[in-house]
Amino acid sequence: MTVNEVIDVKGKSSHIPDTMKAAYLKQVKEVEVEKIKVPSVSGKEVLVKMMAVGICGSDTHYFNHGSIGKRMVQFPHIQGHECAGEIVAIGEEVTRFNVGDRVAIEPGVPCNTCEWCKLGKYNLCPEVQFLSTPPVKGAFVQYLKHREDFLFQIPDELSYEVATLAEPLSVGIHAFKRGSLEPGQTVFISGMGPVGLMAILAAKSFGAKHIIVSDLEELRLETAKKFGATEIINIIEEELESRLNEITDCLGVDLVIETSGNTNALSSSIKYVKRGGNIVSIGFPAQDQVPLDITYMLQNEIDLYTVYRYTNTYPLAIRILESSIQTVQSIITDRYDLDDIQQAMDKVSNDRKNTLKVVVFPNNKGRVLK
Ligand SMILES: [Zn+2]
Ligand SMILES: [Zn+2]
Repeated sequence: MTVNEVIDVKGKSSHIPDTMKAAYLKQVKEVEVEKIKVPSVSGKEVLVKMMAVGICGSDTHYFNHGSIGKRMVQFPHIQGHECAGEIVAIGEEVTRFNVGDRVAIEPGVPCNTCEWCKLGKYNLCPEVQFLSTPPVKGAFVQYLKHREDFLFQIPDELSYEVATLAEPLSVGIHAFKRGSLEPGQTVFISGMGPVGLMAILAAKSFGAKHIIVSDLEELRLETAKKFGATEIINIIEEELESRLNEITDCLGVDLVIETSGNTNALSSSIKYVKRGGNIVSIGFPAQDQVPLDITYMLQNEIDLYTVYRYTNTYPLAIRILESSIQTVQSIITDRYDLDDIQQAMDKVSNDRKNTLKVVVFPNNKGRVLK
């Protein structure tokens, strides 16, 4: 199927150019916009005009270091996986969407046939093609080809930029599923970067009664308050453990979510959780080896869970975003056109104090909020 002019069943047509802009990471800390061919779609594939793409912590890490753990970038590389856009062409077997539909894009497309896919744990599929995880190219492009079953319609009220937050919110949702958060429980979320902040929204939707959070940046803590954190702890001004003891009457919390990736924060989290409680680790630690007092964990039956991406979270993530549009908007601190992506990456890398979520607009002009 060619994609130059596509007419859907409603007779709506979309003009699609032959070439598009794509942002290539040429080497560490250097990104350039180039022209490449717009992909064509067939079968169950859909072509999405990219309207907004958020910059993730993992994008920043690859940008600054060229690798995460043993996973190395193969230059030139295209980053970006937190994305939303408008459908402009559909393959001949597509049944769920039409041209003109607005969608959030779940970035990881698994094989659907392996042991893990069949178990529903498709985040662990060894064949998964996850946008922007090397060597798979990502979403900092004007048009993206994606399989229809990993696209999710978004309501009219939801802007594209807010819809991109379904991705980091999914991590939070998956964390609470892993840690079995129950209504009325008390959680402590360590680290108020975008993933920690989105985890507050997830905690509320799972019915947490107390949501205690910590960070050292004022902007992050203020935003946490807006998002619904019930207790804010600035770890520079207050001693974390004694403050948590005070809040929980020395019982500890039911669940700790560690998002900061700080090695000490993870080691210490066993002291913050109550007997029989759970810890969920989300943030990649700065060092691979983290010391844990296993004897203490055994004596108190403390369980440690890890989170690797997520499964089946997008529909809920979109509903949560829809119910908190006004609040959630405040996490977006910076907006850039795709042409200015170098600036966008530099800003998020160098200005942690004033930056939360940075969103890039591949089809720019007016930074289409709808
Ligand atoms: Zn992400
Ligand atoms: Zn699979």
